[in-house]
Amino acid sequence: MEPKEESSQNILGCPSETSLAGRASVCEGCPGQMLCQSQGLVDPDQEYIDIRMKPIKHKILVLSGKGGVGKSTVAALLSQTLARKHKVGVVDLDICGPSMSKLMGVESQEIINTQYGWKPLSSNHNGIKVMSVASMLQSKESSVIFRGPRKTGLIKRFLKDTFWGQLDYLICDTPPGTSDEHLTVVKILKSTNPDGAVIVTTPQQVALATIRKEINFCRKMRLPIIGLLENMSSFVCPCCEEVNEIFSSGGVEKLADEYGIAFLGTLPFDPRFTRCCEEGSNPVELFPDSPSIQKLANLISQIERRIDTP
Ligand code: SF4
Repeated sequence: MEPKEESSQNILGCPSETSLAGRASVCEGCPGQMLCQSQGLVDPDQEYIDIRMKPIKHKILVLSGKGGVGKSTVAALLSQTLARKHKVGVVDLDICGPSMSKLMGVESQEIINTQYGWKPLSSNHNGIKVMSVASMLQSKESSVIFRGPRKTGLIKRFLKDTFWGQLDYLICDTPPGTSDEHLTVVKILKSTNPDGAVIVTTPQQVALATIRKEINFCRKMRLPIIGLLENMSSFVCPCCEEVNEIFSSGGVEKLADEYGIAFLGTLPFDPRFTRCCEEGSNPVELFPDSPSIQKLANLISQIERRIDTP
């Protein structure tokens, strides 16, 4: 519905999060006005995206403030753990640095276009369905050089044109930060109520500083935060399987307290998982006794409790 001009007169600050984006009187003369106006329009694809997304019970975004905190590995581990009992899909929204095809062992598969839409890749990790731009590239060395609108278009196609079918969980692995990919996915999932975001971080100060921005982004976009997950603050000894601290722990929990959000727990780094990531094998099945896998089970129960699963 077109916004009424009278109400736009009352807007004082930048209304970028509202339907008046680019149309309020304060927008006159703003260099971003044309872009905001185009984003404020009703998206004709939304109806079709909703049709694809409605049969999926839970949609969870995995976010991180900065790169190198193990976000994609955590997204893969959460999916592999959930897939033991549920039907799971993973969409790799890291358009310029996709890694999910490798982690899920579907690198050799190609995306097939069927009469129902794109057929997602099928991982032998309990049948997880995967979509990633990596499977559209001519070679492993090919780079994706997309500007914002092309990234947005591809993300929309991943959700609209992929035949996901009925899933219990769709895990959205996002790139670090708060950019086009995040804005796009949050906006287009809004009408089908995503469960929220799991924010992954390591405990160093530099990582924690960026997490504050991520939390503010979620709040601004009204995306629920399921909780914070502390990754790689400790490691599992390859000889005795004891968990040893690498960094001082506790900073993430304190930050969660400060913002009044849930602290989901810590996930120790198990060096054996590195080989799994490189081979595309499933650490949840290969190392069920690893302390990291046991912690994952706790993390999943915490997440399930918070997103209200039966
Ligand atoms: S045009 Fe400028 S002021 Fe208006 S919503 Fe966009 S960024 Fe904000």
